[in-house]
Amino acid sequence: MLDSFKRKIDYLRFSVTDRCDLRCRYCMPQKMKFTQKEDSLSVKEMKIISKIFFDLGFKKIRITGGEPLIRRDILDFLSFLNSKLKSKLISEISLTTNGTMLSKYAKQIHQNGIKRINVSLDSLIPEKYFFITNGGNLKKVLDGIFDVKNTGIKVKINTVLLKDFNEDELIQFVEWCSKNKFDISFIEVMPIGEFGVKRKDQFVSIDKAKNILEKKYDLNKIDYKTNGPSTYYLNNKLDCRIGFISPISNNFCESCNRVRVTSNGILYGCLGHENSIDLKKLILSGDLELLKKKIKHTIYNKPKKHFFNISKIDSDLGRYMNLTGG
Ligand code: SAM
Ligand code: SF4
Repeated sequence: MLDSFKRKIDYLRFSVTDRCDLRCRYCMPQKMKFTQKEDSLSVKEMKIISKIFFDLGFKKIRITGGEPLIRRDILDFLSFLNSKLKSKLISEISLTTNGTMLSKYAKQIHQNGIKRINVSLDSLIPEKYFFITNGGNLKKVLDGIFDVKNTGIKVKINTVLLKDFNEDELIQFVEWCSKNKFDISFIEVMPIGEFGVKRKDQFVSIDKAKNILEKKYDLNKIDYKTNGPSTYYLNNKLDCRIGFISPISNNFCESCNRVRVTSNGILYGCLGHENSIDLKKLILSGDLELLKKKIKHTIYNKPKKHFFNISKIDSDLGRYMNLTGG
């Protein structure tokens, strides 16, 4: 489908739960109010919604959260998606995870046709990882990453740049990724959700990150594109692509190809806007034709761009990242 700005929209990000076994300090507060089970989408509802998107020409889906792999019936949904992959209705299923459950699910993820996953990792130092995730176990995550790598799935690391936290690890990150043949994307922190800290005190720009890396490695821009918003670079001494995602310093909305469904069935045309429709309510009303019509309407009216302002103390949005997913 094309939206009103003639962008081709064919990528669905589906947050299957807002719950998580970690509490990354920039993503959600330690004491978080989660969606009640009865207000969350059931797998049956997730199947109905995603099938409508596929019938509208959406070819790619990324499963996110919260932590998608803590949802007990996640394999039911993944196997449904795999059946759509096998019948060539869609071309790709991917997953964004914190990695804590990868050892448990590596085999099933692979069996369900997933060829690429993104794993979030903001530090390679156990104590710092424990701190930023509010209790995460780095070794467990690294073991999971290698288990999934051994199945042949391509791993990309996502690292949120955080001032006075991981700027000093950027070189270590790219060298570790190079050694293990993982691509990596560095991401600017976005002002989504309120924490009582100023986002601009956490913020590190992509330009600053590039400057740090270029002290040791020249970065040569390449044309490589995935479905995401990373701009990629190479260095001939490193065996990995280095991506940068700059939602704040260099808005990439004109090439945006995606919409998002949250775990309680809210469809957002844009991560940075409140305009939305309640898909769960429409499913419960039983009028699937109206549901399809409203989805088409939301896609067509996808906002032109977001207006994130890192200098504002509070987020404009009354939600946290775990609801919409990254
Ligand atoms: N739990 C999974 C994970 O951590 O990969 C999936 C959901 S998480 C919300 C998806 C991505 O969003 C992660 O890479 C996370 O680091 C990123 N993220 C969370 N809050 C963010 C924020 N305020 N700004 C930028 N990225 C954020
Ligand atoms: Fe959980 Fe992912 Fe948010 Fe961290 S970034 S708290 S792992 S949802």
